[in-house]
Amino acid sequence: MNTIKPIIFLSAKNASVQYPNGVIGMQASDIEIYDGQLTVLIGPSGAGKSTMLRTLNGIVPLSTGSISTKKHGKLSDKKSWRSHQRRTAMIFQQHQLIGRQSALHNVLLGRVAHHGNLQCLMPWSKKDKIIALEALDRVGLLNKSLERVSNLSGGEMQRVGIARAFAQEPDIILADEPVASLDPAISVKILSLLNDICIEKSITVVVSLHQVDLAKKFADRLLGISAGKIIFEGGGGDLTFEILKDLYGDNYSNHPETQTAE
Ligand code: ADP
Ligand code: MG
Repeated sequence: MNTIKPIIFLSAKNASVQYPNGVIGMQASDIEIYDGQLTVLIGPSGAGKSTMLRTLNGIVPLSTGSISTKKHGKLSDKKSWRSHQRRTAMIFQQHQLIGRQSALHNVLLGRVAHHGNLQCLMPWSKKDKIIALEALDRVGLLNKSLERVSNLSGGEMQRVGIARAFAQEPDIILADEPVASLDPAISVKILSLLNDICIEKSITVVVSLHQVDLAKKFADRLLGISAGKIIFEGGGGDLTFEILKDLYGDNYSNHPETQTAE
């Protein structure tokens, strides 16, 4: 039995979110994310996966509770939050890329976290360009560096999104349904690529996914979320049919969101 206790990269204590319209996005939760692991958030649409991910980098502010990291301790002021955000990259379902700009330009935007927004108005340094080109090379898109993003396929766009995240040189990546708009075979390729590079570079990852089979395939650890609350924590093997029914309801086996081919 492996008795080595994982190191906690990030934790939340009593963390809850109530949106301004009164909707509870996250019930008071204690969350632990382990260093170097790939943690997957699963749960039905509206369960609170995006809310939880976004609290981890402060895009969605907490209504109660606090977030602590291995590096900064409790994030209690703007300075510690900014420092955490600089090393926290995000990957989105819809890529959030600028279609009329080149792949290289989009990846360079990952470097803005280190320089501030005004960098966009200035020439990029040789160091930034090398980091961005290396990231594009790692995702297999060096030959498309100067291509407009709008000319790329969905899978290529998400590889640009991944390269942009890596160009930020993050300690942690938060990926919100990164393969939701891709077909199953490409989804596996994209998640494998993300997983491989994060292992290579010792980056901690939290990914939300709605495909249970992909979650089981890639997760070191799963957190199951229902109605803004973590109701399951464990490995893929611990995810029983009963738990899946608790998460997705009685019609789990017919639930279209949970189905995907290998
Ligand atoms: P998921 O990512 O699992 O689909 P979300 O985190 O997007 O779930 O949503 C959780 C709950 O919070 C849902 O009830 C959703 O309608 C609500 N919600 C999400 N974002 C907002 C927002 N900006 N304002 C108000 N309610 C929101
Ligand atoms: Mg979501």
